[in-house]
Amino acid sequence: MIDEIPLRAWLAVAIAVATAAVVLVLSRDGQAALAALAGGAALVVIIATIPEDAADEAAEPDAPVPDLSTAAMVEAIADPVLVLRGGRVALANVAARKLLGDHIVGEDARVAIRHPGAAEHLSEGATQPVDLVGIGTLDQRWEMRAAPIGADARLVQLVDRTGQHAAEKMRVDFVANASHELRTPLASILGYVETLADEAGDDPGIRKRFLGIVFDEARRMERLVEDLMSLSRIEAEKFRELRAAVDLADLTREACDALATTHGDRGGDIQLDIADALPAVIGDPVQLSQLVHNLIGNAMKYGRAATPVEVTLWAHAQNVCLRVADHGEGIPPEHLPRLTERFYRVDPGRSRSVGGTGLGLAIVKHIVERHRGRLDIASTVGVGTRVTITLPAAPGALS
Ligand code: ADP
Repeated sequence: MIDEIPLRAWLAVAIAVATAAVVLVLSRDGQAALAALAGGAALVVIIATIPEDAADEAAEPDAPVPDLSTAAMVEAIADPVLVLRGGRVALANVAARKLLGDHIVGEDARVAIRHPGAAEHLSEGATQPVDLVGIGTLDQRWEMRAAPIGADARLVQLVDRTGQHAAEKMRVDFVANASHELRTPLASILGYVETLADEAGDDPGIRKRFLGIVFDEARRMERLVEDLMSLSRIEAEKFRELRAAVDLADLTREACDALATTHGDRGGDIQLDIADALPAVIGDPVQLSQLVHNLIGNAMKYGRAATPVEVTLWAHAQNVCLRVADHGEGIPPEHLPRLTERFYRVDPGRSRSVGGTGLGLAIVKHIVERHRGRLDIASTVGVGTRVTITLPAAPGALS
């Protein structure tokens, strides 16, 4: 505590006490000495509460600006930066040389950047940012900013906007896809309800059939809305700390029991193989249960009828692994990298006919990422598909 009191405050204390002593000695007036001491104490409090920096600034109002070289400053910037003088490249940092080539120093800036949009912008001397596509690789997007830094000099900065643009495009595509997926069953429901309201609804056979279709389409909408809500919940919880110790063995047994009751005969095809003394994982039990449901559900949907759905759980090198294997049509290799994209389906008709939303594996991917795990999908056409999830075991769970 005493250490935190600055030296200048101790000096002020000494001066205040000395002043009070002098007043007492000279005037022999105790009250005057007390008043001097109180004034000094107030001063000490004020001095002690002034931050060190503020005091230093006050003491050194004209501190010299460090002598920094423009080249060093430009080099320290991660984005490509050019300094132009008289329209030519006087300086280019390493990022700019990497993007545009080492030869650009000394070149006319319009030649160096080699983009019609940039050339026009630089010729006009515009200062507002401009978007440029195709510098570097064809799909790279840049925002170019040019600002005057002297009579005849300009600083040009290129900010990479490729990732931001891709994320925005993904968002727009997602909204368009989700709307389309919802509109299709909705249009069907409206069409059948209209027909039922006509004379067709008087025929008990037609009415039963149409009501069945309306029910199926409404269920499809419900599944889609549930998956959309799951996705947004998982994204919202992305940075929330995981705390619960989850027993994947229990959770998988529960999921298998639940799926067995909802998938009729297929339920009997699940073969569970769980290693003894499986360590826990730290995670979100609701999300992990959803992950297990989605993977076993897919194996039941896309595996051939009456073939086994093999669910295996084991521990390996500080991890807990879950593998779900089916004997189905399999997935051609060119589709594998895209399976976890939202609404990506190998065969949309087949997916819809088995009640798929196209979001199951996207949800799995997000859950695995949140749990710092790994997702591997291996498939052989005509043989079947194996999905393996690897999750870190809870610290101390493996000894
Ligand atoms: P869906 O709801 O359509 O099943 P998913 O996101 O779960 O959506 O899966 C995406 C696509 O991956 C599916 O439409 C299907 O084409 C394919 N797929 C997923 N799992 C399997 C599997 N076990 N066997 C074959 N294809 C699969």
